[in-house]
Amino acid sequence: MFYVQPPKGLVTLHTLEEIVFSRLEYLNNILGSDKKVTFNGKFEYLFEGSPYDCIGHFTLRLLTLRSDGFFSSWLRKETLLLRTRLSVVNSRQLYRFFKTVVKHLKRRENVDNPVDRVLLRLCSFFMIPDIFKHIVSKSHAEDCTEYHDKIDFELLLDLVEEKAVELHKGSAVVHCSQWKELLCSLFQTFILFEVKNQSFLVNNFSTDPRMNDIWNKLQYSLFPKDYNFGNITASNIDREVQKFPPCMEHLHLLLRRKHRLSHYARLYYTLFLKECGMSLEEAIAYWKNEYSKPHKCDSVCIHNWHKDAKKFIYSIRHMYGLEGVKKNYSTPSCSFFCEEVPSTNYEGGCPFKNFDTDSLKSLLSNSMTESDLNEFMATGLKQEPQETCANFFRFKSMTHLQDITIKRPVQYYKKMLELS
Ligand code: SF4
Repeated sequence: MFYVQPPKGLVTLHTLEEIVFSRLEYLNNILGSDKKVTFNGKFEYLFEGSPYDCIGHFTLRLLTLRSDGFFSSWLRKETLLLRTRLSVVNSRQLYRFFKTVVKHLKRRENVDNPVDRVLLRLCSFFMIPDIFKHIVSKSHAEDCTEYHDKIDFELLLDLVEEKAVELHKGSAVVHCSQWKELLCSLFQTFILFEVKNQSFLVNNFSTDPRMNDIWNKLQYSLFPKDYNFGNITASNIDREVQKFPPCMEHLHLLLRRKHRLSHYARLYYTLFLKECGMSLEEAIAYWKNEYSKPHKCDSVCIHNWHKDAKKFIYSIRHMYGLEGVKKNYSTPSCSFFCEEVPSTNYEGGCPFKNFDTDSLKSLLSNSMTESDLNEFMATGLKQEPQETCANFFRFKSMTHLQDITIKRPVQYYKKMLELS
């Protein structure tokens, strides 16, 4: 259950693939959603503590490290799997679990992982007959405080964040009634330390063509490109932005300048990029790059990738329909952008409707010569913002097509692609 000891032996590539995909399907479909969904994989690959179980866990541990978003999502689900297993385990299995963790940790005494010492101490403590009987007893109260331990708070950051533990001089005070939460929290910290110390393995793994093949299949199965048509990446976006409608070009330029956007601007812009073909991986890389830089907002911005990476990744995955209710969200329409101002610090909106003349000219001057801009400002502006936008599209793409209507920002980009 804790996966301290990597598996040994040989496995065929075909079986390895089956194990990995079965595990991933189980983690994604069964544990990631409240809905009952069909599991098409093989349960035999998930029997707790079996060689297949270990192979699946360790292979995914190394594979998912290729992407921050994938890794954090995988780790969250593996933790959920541990929590589920701990909630159904019987006394004998639980005792065996503690024993196995202790045995495996003792075999690696020279490993420098601060969680090892805490785990060893805790599991040994839980195996003391009176303590073991106490924690597995049916009458063990949910808020029992009979036994407690003090653990360095840095090893239990999620419990600290959730305010599930009291803090005392840098230590988190954990009671016996919290033994499951404690193990799950230490499990996450343990894996994070492990992967930090095993970067050499990741490098070897990433050059193995067999693993690259599985990784490509994994990415495709997780992020099918059925909702988009373009190919925007974190590295080509500065070129692609030339084909964006002014509303989205504005958000991109603002983000590049200030390295932050307000909540709703970030939400709509992420959805736009998603629909225009930016993969989840690229979206995470793009936002990570900007939010890792110091902000240049007028307000005191407290967002920072380093501090809030988990939240950012969750929110991006949510917009991609991979978390929460798993809805396929879309970018709002032009009329929405023209009418709605979701919050006071919102920097978005339709430039043809919401910007003053100077701000509009300044934005359009990024993609037009001065004489074209003057001509456009003199002849291209219409009553309806969408009509002005269609005019701007014609001007910029130098097309004389008359039947252009822009109702959604995504439509603008799609039409630009069709012409290029
Ligand atoms: Fe964007 Fe629509 Fe305004 Fe054009 S009309 S700038 S696509 S909101």
